[in-house]
Amino acid sequence: KPIVAVVGRPNVGKSTLVNRLSVNRDAIVHESRGVTRDRSYHDCDWNGRDFVLIDTGGIESAKSKDVFAPRIREQALAACDEADAIIFVVDGTVGVTDEDEEVARVVRRSKKPVFLCVNKLDDPSKELNSWDYYSLGVGEPRGISAGHGFGTGDLLDDVVAALPEEGEPEPEREDGVLNVAIIGRPNVGKSSLTNRLAKRNRSIVSDVAGTTRDAVDIEIAWKGSRIRLVDTAGMRKKTQVHEDVEYYSLVRGLQAMDKADVCLLVVDASVGVTEQDQKLAGMAIDRGCAIVVVLNKWDLIDTEEKREAVRASLDQRMTFARWAPSVNVSALTGRATDKVLAAAVKASENHARQVKTSELNRLVTSIREGGHTVTYKNRRLKIHYATQTGTKPPALTFWCNAPDLVDDNYERFLENRIRDTFDFEGTPLRLRFRRKD
Ligand code: GDP
Repeated sequence: KPIVAVVGRPNVGKSTLVNRLSVNRDAIVHESRGVTRDRSYHDCDWNGRDFVLIDTGGIESAKSKDVFAPRIREQALAACDEADAIIFVVDGTVGVTDEDEEVARVVRRSKKPVFLCVNKLDDPSKELNSWDYYSLGVGEPRGISAGHGFGTGDLLDDVVAALPEEGEPEPEREDGVLNVAIIGRPNVGKSSLTNRLAKRNRSIVSDVAGTTRDAVDIEIAWKGSRIRLVDTAGMRKKTQVHEDVEYYSLVRGLQAMDKADVCLLVVDASVGVTEQDQKLAGMAIDRGCAIVVVLNKWDLIDTEEKREAVRASLDQRMTFARWAPSVNVSALTGRATDKVLAAAVKASENHARQVKTSELNRLVTSIREGGHTVTYKNRRLKIHYATQTGTKPPALTFWCNAPDLVDDNYERFLENRIRDTFDFEGTPLRLRFRRKD
C-alpha cells in the first residue's frame, strides 16, 4: 500500500487533519497507541484507493514544551523518506515560521509529490493570501480547515491521484518462491536470525541515512523449498539510523509485509510479548499474512520461572492470534533455527489451503444440528451453506438468512470449529456472511 505522510511543525493541526481524513469513512483500523506515541498509522480508503496515512503529530502532545527544531526536522525526514506522497501542513493564522521553513527544506529534498495545506482557514471563501506560502518552494498552497472539513475532500482527490499506480494486485512473485518477512522490534535479533538462516555472515549494512529505502532480498534454498527473505534492509543497526528506530521497524515491517506470505514475528523471549509486538501481529493479520512467532534469545530462558513468564505473555498478549505457532530459538547459538523455516513452510501451505466445499458443508451441517446459533428478537440465524472464496489467506463465505445476526461470539465459535476441522495453523481466516433466503 502507498504511504502518505502528514508533516509539519507542532500545533498546525496535523492530527486534526488526519482525524478528518480518516474518520469520515470510519476506516481507522489501527493506531499505534502506546507503542510509538509519536506516530499513528491509519488505513485509509478514498474512492477505492487504499493507502496508509502516517500522522507524525504525536510529539507535540507528548512534550510540547521542548520540541526543538532538530527533532522536528528529524521527524519530517523520517516520514518523507518512506512516504509516496506528503501532506505538508502550515498554520494559516500564523504565517510562515522558521520551523516551517525547516520542514520545507526536508520536504523539498525528498522530491516526492507534496501537498501544501494552509490550515485553520475557517472561511474558505476568503482569498488565500498565498505569496508567503509560495515562498516555501513546495508548490501551490491550498487553503483548508481541518477542523471544519473545508477543502479536505479535494485534497484527498489530489493526493490519491498522485499515488503510484496500483498495478496488478500484488504480483505472484515467481512460482514456488515463498516470500517471508522478518518483522519485529529493534534488537530482538532479526539480523542475527537472518544471518543464521542465510547460513553465512552476510552483512546487511548501509550506514548512510537516506539509503534506507534499499531493500535487500535474500533467497535461500531449504529442503526443496525456495524461500525469499524480503526487505531485510530494515535490519540495520540501531546506532546507524535516526534515533527513531521503532518507527523504522514499523514502516519497514509494513512494507515487507505487503510483499510477504508469511511473517516471522521475532520476539525477544527475555522480554516477552510487548504491545508493539501485538501491533505488528495485528498489522500482519490486516494484510492477510500468515504468522509464525519466533521466540528468540531462548538461550537466556534458563529457568522454569522464565519459561513460565514467556508462556504467560504469549497467552495474554496473543489471544487474537492463538492460531499462530511459536518456535523457541536462539540466533546466537543457532538453536533450532531450522524449525523456523519448517514452521514458515507449513504456515504457507495452510495459508494457501483450499478446502473442499463438500467437507466445509459437512461441517456446516454438523454445526446446524449441534444447535449452536444466535437468536435475536425472534429471529434465528440459519447458515444454509458455505464455500471457500479465496486463499492467501483463506476466505470462507457463509450464506445465511440473516448476516446481521452474526456477532463476534458466533464468529469466534465458527472459526474455532473450522480450525478444529481443517489445518489452518499459522494463517488468519476471513469469514464472510452473505444473505440468502
Ligand atoms: P535486530 O535489531 O532485531 O536486527 O537485532 P540484532 O540481530 O541486531 O540483535 C540485537 C542484539 O541481540 C545483538 O546484540 C545480538 O547479539 C543479540 N542477540 C540476537 N539474537 C540473540 C539470541 O538468540 N540470544 C542472545 N542472548 N542474544 C541475541
